[in-house]
Amino acid sequence: MSTSLEIARASYRDLRLYSAEAAPCDIDLSDNTNLWGTPPAAARALHELADAGVTRYPAAYAAPLKEAIAAYVGVDASWIVTGCGSDDILDSAIRAFAEPGDRLAFCAPTFAMIPIFARLNGVEVLPVPMAAGWDIDAEALTRADARIIYVCSPNNPTGTIASRATLERVIASAPGLVILDEAYAEFAEESHLDLTAASERVLVARTMSKAFGLAGLRVGYAVGAPALVAEVEKSRGPYKVSIAAERAAVAALTHDRAWVADHVAVARASRARLGESLRTLGLAPLPSDANFILVPVPRAAHVAKRLRERGVAVRAFEALPSIGDALRITVGPAPTMDRALAALEAALACA
Ligand SMILES: *Cc1c(COP(=O)(O)O)cnc(C)c1O
Repeated sequence: MSTSLEIARASYRDLRLYSAEAAPCDIDLSDNTNLWGTPPAAARALHELADAGVTRYPAAYAAPLKEAIAAYVGVDASWIVTGCGSDDILDSAIRAFAEPGDRLAFCAPTFAMIPIFARLNGVEVLPVPMAAGWDIDAEALTRADARIIYVCSPNNPTGTIASRATLERVIASAPGLVILDEAYAEFAEESHLDLTAASERVLVARTMSKAFGLAGLRVGYAVGAPALVAEVEKSRGPYKVSIAAERAAVAALTHDRAWVADHVAVARASRARLGESLRTLGLAPLPSDANFILVPVPRAAHVAKRLRERGVAVRAFEALPSIGDALRITVGPAPTMDRALAALEAALACA
């Protein structure tokens, strides 16, 4: 299908839609969502939605949600900006801090949406290689003279983390904004959210889509100095979080924290078991601090197809920088992982 509509923006001509696998699959380990279900208080809030006054607009700048997030992360509400998923935050932040033609640098491979959001905002991307041991490369990132440096830790798709010392070096010499994407913070040993207090250039993006199990409601947020988040909010615009999303997210942040913490603990144990099982199959998975594992596998797309025929969806990557072909596998409950591993063993045998 031709997309070259004459009247369309020229720089969008050869942009394609982000293609998430549409066909449903029995076991879906492809998108790092919470496979243990909806947090109970969030589910109750959604059931009670009929009384929530959906004929009215939600709060323009999500004040009740900001309060709940602020209490969860331990800052004042003036340090929070929310959005329609953290995707919305990342897109808005790029638009707010870079002019068209400016540059955004990141260590590759990283979150696949970043080059897309950069491009949508007319911003050039400069991928640099990761450092040894899967850390980010502070010198390469800061040498790039980029208006925005994007760091994802734990990183999607590798699952690996940026070290505190390296992050501090990046922040100390960054010429512009540093976005730290902590979508998987709950699964990691350490968060670097406190870096926002040390520098007005640091924006930490988080999401309710992963550990909190609310991907379908699209709630993301970021933490940063009040003047910084105000710029993101300006570029994002009002009314981006629906009443349904706000009610469920506030309920989860207020009443479901123990539920989330319990399932994070189970997910970590499941991650350790998955890593061992992959090594038993003769594979060499990367160390992960997230709720997924990246495992290099030759002909990954082919193996993923064989897996899909066996009812298991994973995410295949081809020719990742310094990794090659690999599969990214979300961790879930033990019986699900047992079925997925049996399917993987079979798929590898006939690959
Ligand atoms: C999933 C993911 C997001 C997007 O989360 P939403 O809040 O659902 O938009 C952002 N960053 C990374 C690294 C992710 O993996």
